[in-house]
Amino acid sequence: MTMTTANAVSSFSTDTSPLAMPSVSGDLARKTLVSAPITEVFSSFQGEGPHIGERQVFVRFSHCHLHCSYCDTAMSQPDGQCWVETEPASGVWDKHPNPQLPHSLDGLVEQLWCQTPHHSVSLTGGEPLLYGRFLSQWLPLLNKPVYLETSGTHPAVLASIAPWVSTIAMDIKLPSATGEPWQSDAHREFIADAQENPQCELFIKLILNNAVTSDELGHVMELVSNRNIPVFVQPVTNPNGLSTDVLATTVFNAVQHLTRHFTSVRVIPQSHKLMGLT
Ligand code: SF4
Repeated sequence: MTMTTANAVSSFSTDTSPLAMPSVSGDLARKTLVSAPITEVFSSFQGEGPHIGERQVFVRFSHCHLHCSYCDTAMSQPDGQCWVETEPASGVWDKHPNPQLPHSLDGLVEQLWCQTPHHSVSLTGGEPLLYGRFLSQWLPLLNKPVYLETSGTHPAVLASIAPWVSTIAMDIKLPSATGEPWQSDAHREFIADAQENPQCELFIKLILNNAVTSDELGHVMELVSNRNIPVFVQPVTNPNGLSTDVLATTVFNAVQHLTRHFTSVRVIPQSHKLMGLT
């Protein structure tokens, strides 16, 4: 269990500011590396969206600024360390110290990536965009397709890292499902920033429960004025992964509503839970 030490680096600091803008230029970027807390690094299959079933290396960033009522994600390991699968699908984990520096995380990803073909590296959480300064240093090193899973609430951070991102899975939080307020202004700005980067594939994910309202869906249509952005509707799956309490009529009505505006609306379960995957 060793951590790679970055060469020619005189100091580092932990990226703790949720809305921190990256410092990417001049001497500062060369002299100061920023670190970030990582919960786990592992190889699995994407369970959502247009790339469902693709093999990915997942990097789960610790912590989130939201508190969705259905959230079952561990925000960190009990021991606070970064757990890394030793081989894809082995279920055997090494533990590495947190927070991670860009070069050290790069090595941990590479050791899984090189063992079997992968489609991309999924940045998930928690909320990866809490660590904008770290990402601005790490992603240029990574040199692999980046699949970003995000709540779409940190547009300034996205703008700073978008050139290194291939796919954005933007989770628009419906207040009826999350218990969280709308993040409308942030979502609008985020979508605009994403669309300024034509190499970025953007799709929307909506987690649905029975309390969804037509007003909420109407608001999503207002937020996402580009009708050609694909939308994936996912009924909340129970923690056991075997069932959902969301009624079929709720799903049908929601899709019918959304298809008045969007050209592509698809329904999929939270398939990683169904398959018992992480
Ligand atoms: S945004 Fe994701 S990680 Fe954060 S609280 Fe909601 S479900 Fe959990």
